Amino acid sequence: MPPTYTPLDSVALQRDLAARAPALTVKVIEECGSTSTLLAERVAADPATPGGSVIACERQVAGRGRRGRVWMSEAGASLTFSLLWRFGGAARRGPALSGLSLAVAVAVAQSLEQMGLIGIALKWPNDLLYEGAKLGGILVEVSGPGIAIIGIGLNVQLPPGFAATLDRAVTDLAAMTGGRFVLPDRTTLLAGVLAGLAAAMERYDREGFAPFRAGWQVRHAHQGLHVSLLRDDQSVAAEGIATGVAEDGALLLRTAAGLQRIHSGEVSLR
Ligand code: ATP
Repeated sequence: MPPTYTPLDSVALQRDLAARAPALTVKVIEECGSTSTLLAERVAADPATPGGSVIACERQVAGRGRRGRVWMSEAGASLTFSLLWRFGGAARRGPALSGLSLAVAVAVAQSLEQMGLIGIALKWPNDLLYEGAKLGGILVEVSGPGIAIIGIGLNVQLPPGFAATLDRAVTDLAAMTGGRFVLPDRTTLLAGVLAGLAAAMERYDREGFAPFRAGWQVRHAHQGLHVSLLRDDQSVAAEGIATGVAEDGALLLRTAAGLQRIHSGEVSLR
């Protein structure tokens, strides 16, 4: 049965990226469990899988979030893709690529802004928000020394009823146009985000998180606000005023006991 949506145009995508991000090779597939799982399996089967390999999937049926959470998407209404990146420079020598997922969030936000989608805020460590609702998710997994699999889900134009299936406020890129301009098609959006991401990852490899820190902080959704960091069992790990992020991407929290640096991994900000 032909799809009821306009599929990603892999030829146009590759042509566009050949000029802007020649290091990338994109494979568009119709259905999969998780693009990140698929890429990890590819690396396991063939350790020489080149950096810059991208898998984009129209219908991702088992999308993953942090700590076993689920990423929901809808064919034709979302973008779900993963990028394999090999770090050989400063980033590889750094402590476990810390700060990478924040740098990815900055890169995605900037790429969308360049396509006219203004107003993205970032929730530590790497959620993309618009008007307080979740627009996109990022999952970075390290699959070997200097090898990262960067998984991204973006809501493009969600069908009615989608939001009700989730436990939090969600939004999409279409909402960001405010009806004032036409949202670029998904192929154009994906090419723009991938080109921005490739340039950002090259920079991250040379310079680490430092050049992304200011870009993260100007978009910080909770700057100066009182926040709680919750463990998976919902108990409070720390609370205080969020004052920004450190040079390694740790959240800086002003608490009654002084300034604390919170590292991601185990906690969620609420
Ligand atoms: P937090 O930092 O708030 O705990 P997280 O980093 O754990 O979030 P992710 O791993 O990015 O979150 O994504 C998983 C969560 O995102 C799910 O638990 C669900 O609440 C939410 N979610 C799942 N699919 C979507 C979607 N399409 N749009 C917005 N939110 C979604």
